[in-house]
Amino acid sequence: MDPYQELEGRWKALRGRADLQVREVACVGVARTLLCVELGPIDAPAVALSAGIHGDEPAGIWTLLDLVEQGELDTRFSYRLWPCTNPTGLVSGTRASAEGVDLNRTFGRGGTSPEARAILTANRDRKFLASLDLHEDRDAAGFYAYEYGTGTLAKAIIEALDRRALPVQALEREYDLGVPLPAEAMQLERGCVRVDPVREGEALSGFSYSLAMLRRGVPHVLTLEAAGLASPEQRRRMLREAVLTVLARLHLDDLSPVTD
Ligand SMILES: [Zn+2]
Repeated sequence: MDPYQELEGRWKALRGRADLQVREVACVGVARTLLCVELGPIDAPAVALSAGIHGDEPAGIWTLLDLVEQGELDTRFSYRLWPCTNPTGLVSGTRASAEGVDLNRTFGRGGTSPEARAILTANRDRKFLASLDLHEDRDAAGFYAYEYGTGTLAKAIIEALDRRALPVQALEREYDLGVPLPAEAMQLERGCVRVDPVREGEALSGFSYSLAMLRRGVPHVLTLEAAGLASPEQRRRMLREAVLTVLARLHLDDLSPVTD
């Protein structure tokens, strides 16, 4: 069984749970679907959780499944989960999709890949309070997060990881983030890359998933990067801790965009 079949099987096995719906969203033009999961009461503020846009970064995929299987997500919110946004990449263990495309550059102009189009179209029906996209950085010895504007959620995550003695990436100037962002588009702190969304939009040839969510007006948008040099178990612990910390810090009445 390939990892996507296993993932699909485990999500579908959760069907029948109260407040949980597992569906498959078609990617127009290619023979593939994306899992899309709704969890919690539809009238509660919505949080979007996604993983696996890079097929060689599986920790987030299994972390989201664990969080739902174990019933650990804060019940004050409803969730739209995209458990694996690049199924063909997961199967082949590659960053790119079967077409050789880095899908995380295809979220501009309504989506320029079948996967991005499917996600952006489906996400139009909800207003999200927060969006978390789960990644791994294969060269990192510690965790870090990308956060936009002056949000304080990344800082809260770093404090939580420190308390649990999980490694945090120092991110000195020389650290290669592996993304083509000019130095003036971001500010590096321990465990946090603070991104200027306007500069990011100008610098990248195509939007990332997170930038598309931010442009839609989602107030809290983070991209979480587990340390690729840590063990698989530790990578999942980092991401689990990061997701739970953000949820614990979100306030139900906080639906206004974060401003400088
Ligand atoms: Zn990634």
